[in-house]
Amino acid sequence: MKNKQLYAEKLILIVGLAKSGLAASKLLQKLGAKVVVNDQKPLEENVQASELQQLGIEVICGGHPLDLLDRNFDLVVKNPGIPYSNPLIQGALSKGISVVTELEIANMISEAEMIAITGSNGKTTTTTLIYEMLKNSHREPLIAGNIGTVASEVVQLATKGNIVVTEVSSFQLMGTENFHPKVAVFLNLFDAHLDYHGTKQEYGKAKAKIFANLTDDDYCVINEDDPEVMELAAGVNGKKITFSVKKVVDNGAYILDNHIYYRGEKIIPIEKIVLPGVHNLENIVAAVCAAKITGAKTKQIVDVLSTFTGVMHRTQFVTTLNGRKFYNDSKATNMLATKVAVSAFNQPVILLAGGLDRGNEFDELIPTFEKLKGIVLYGATAQKLAVAAKKAGLTFIEIVNNVNEAVNVAYEHSKSGDVILLSPACASWDQFKTFEERGDTFIEAVYNLEK
Ligand code: ADP
Repeated sequence: MKNKQLYAEKLILIVGLAKSGLAASKLLQKLGAKVVVNDQKPLEENVQASELQQLGIEVICGGHPLDLLDRNFDLVVKNPGIPYSNPLIQGALSKGISVVTELEIANMISEAEMIAITGSNGKTTTTTLIYEMLKNSHREPLIAGNIGTVASEVVQLATKGNIVVTEVSSFQLMGTENFHPKVAVFLNLFDAHLDYHGTKQEYGKAKAKIFANLTDDDYCVINEDDPEVMELAAGVNGKKITFSVKKVVDNGAYILDNHIYYRGEKIIPIEKIVLPGVHNLENIVAAVCAAKITGAKTKQIVDVLSTFTGVMHRTQFVTTLNGRKFYNDSKATNMLATKVAVSAFNQPVILLAGGLDRGNEFDELIPTFEKLKGIVLYGATAQKLAVAAKKAGLTFIEIVNNVNEAVNVAYEHSKSGDVILLSPACASWDQFKTFEERGDTFIEAVYNLEK
C-alpha cells in the first residue's frame, strides 16, 4: 500500500455498509483512522454492523441521525447507492466535508496502476476480458468490481508488479476527487439511472469523472461509434486510443475483412470468437485496446477470445444439447438488454422471458419479438409480454409457471440449430432473490434436460 499515512488519525464517517462500506471501514481502521459507521438497517438485522462492532468500530444503525455531523468529521465515505439528496450527505456537504466513495480510497492507497472501465452497458464483460487477456503478461492482473472483490480489498494485496482491472459505475465515480487510473475505458452512454442522476447530461458528466485526473502519460480508451462518449473525452488529458465496430480507426482497435485489428496488426478472425453479438464485439475491441496498451501478448488475447464463453448470466453460453444451443442472459433485467441479446443471434431463437412487473408495457420489444421463432413466458409480466408477442405476430407463445417449466416447453418445441435464450427483460424479484439465482435455476433446468 502507498500513502499509508493519509488517513491516520482522521475522523471518518462511513455512510451505508454493504460490501464496499464494510471493506472501507476495515481498511481505514487498519490505516489508523477513527472510523464511525452509520447504516440504515437496524443492528439486529445487520450482520456487517455486528462484525464491525466486534472490531471495536462504533456503529450507529437504524437511520441517519443528523446530529452525527456535530462531530466534525474529516471525511465521509458514502456507499455509491445512497443519493446525494440524503439529508446526512447534504449536511456533510454544506459543512464543507469531502464526501467520497470507497473507490477513491482504494485508488489513493493502491501501489498498482489501475485500468478502470465505465459505460452504461458492457462493463463487467469488458473488465473480465481485459483481466483474462493480461494473464501471462509481464504484469499480473488483479480484478475488482462486480464479479471480483471490492477494490479497497484488492488493492491491499497489490504491488507495483500488478495491475488492477476494475469496473466503475457512475455512482462510484461521482464520489471521486483524485481518482487517477492509468487507463480509462469509456464504452458507451445510454439513457440509464436517470432516477439517480436526473438528466442524461448529469449522468454523462458523472461518468466523465473517469478522465478528470489523467495526465499525458495516461490513456483514454474511447468508443468512436458513440458521439457522446467522444464529446465527453474531447479536451481531456491522456493519449487517445479509440475503438470502433463500424470503421477503421487510426489509433486503436477495429474490424476489417472480418478480422479484429489493433493498430494494423491482425489479431483474430471474428468467426473464431465465442462470444455472440455485435455488442460483444464492441466490448472486445475496447478490451483489446486496454490490454495491448498495458502489455498483453497477442497469443493470450487470441486464446481468450477463442475460448471465453461469457461472464456468468450475460449472454453466457451454457451448453449444446441435440443441436440446440442454450444461453443464459439472466442479467437482462430491462428491455434494452433483451433487444441486444436477441440481435446477437442469426439462428432461430426461442426466448424465455418474464419477471417483476414494474408497471410498464412491452410494445418497445415488438420489433425484437418479430425476429423470434417463439416465446415462453413466466412470472408476473407473462400476460403483458404475451400481448406484445401477439402484436409481433408470433404464433408460438406459451405461458408457464416458472423457469423450469419454460426450459422444458422451449426444448419440446425446438429443433436442432435453434437457440434457447433466457433473457427476461424484467427484474427477477417476483420469483427469485437475485438475477444470479434465476440464471442458476435456468442452467440447472438445462442440465436436467441432458439427464
Ligand atoms: P454492465 O456491467 O455494464 O451491466 P455487462 O457486461 O454485465 O454490463 O452486460 C449486461 C448486459 O448488457 C448484457 O447481458 C448485454 O445484454 C448488454 N450489453 C453488454 N455489452 C453491451 C454493449 N457494449 N452495448 C450494449 N449492450 C451491451
